[in-house]
Amino acid sequence: MARITIGKRIVKYRVQKPEAERSGAAPARDPRARKDKDTTGKVVWMHEKLERPEVLIGSTYKIKTPVSDHAMYLTINDIVLNEGTEHEHRRPFEIFINSKNLDHFQWIVALTRIISAVFRKGGDVAFLTEELKAVFDPRGGYWQPGGKFMPSLVAEIGYVVERHLQSIGLMPAAEMDAARRQLIESKRSEWEQRHRQQDAFARSSYPEGAQLCGKCHTAAVVMMDGCMTCLACGDSKCG
Ligand SMILES: [Zn+2]
Repeated sequence: MARITIGKRIVKYRVQKPEAERSGAAPARDPRARKDKDTTGKVVWMHEKLERPEVLIGSTYKIKTPVSDHAMYLTINDIVLNEGTEHEHRRPFEIFINSKNLDHFQWIVALTRIISAVFRKGGDVAFLTEELKAVFDPRGGYWQPGGKFMPSLVAEIGYVVERHLQSIGLMPAAEMDAARRQLIESKRSEWEQRHRQQDAFARSSYPEGAQLCGKCHTAAVVMMDGCMTCLACGDSKCG
């Protein structure tokens, strides 16, 4: 079972009812409560029997990896629930992956169907990204342009889903505080002053010879003042 981190205060909870009662086959026990609900307008939550509207809003992300000649296009369609009310919220509804590369077609279709099913179940779906990001390719993964290490294609899909959930506000974006950002900037320019880059064709935006950061998986760790420091996320062995 995946560990689920609750990032927000719990403001409401609901006791799961038997199937018959949930689907409306049995009347609610307290008729007064039922009435209150009707007069205030029913709030719709994500659940698997929610019918797909004709039109959904979507975002398509391009994934180009060095392990395949063809790019992959990952589309996530969202549903807006309770539109125009104070309970309006946007949730992912389905995911599709398209590619000219058919090598892994059946697994990709299986993966997208399962992710879509989890989306439609409702509740917290952020745990999915952690599960996907933790998948390692036994052939060794690859480097993205910019120096970020991807342990597998599945992990890359996890990062894209995470980015999407952050963009629609379902996951907090990993924001660095201003002081930390400034520290990284100054450390970086200091390092660059000291070691002018000699290779004009170096593709990584981080210094040649930088080591892999265990925290953000970017090859951006350099020795600064006797301390291994990551120029991407600011992680430092000396705190
Ligand atoms: Zn880092």
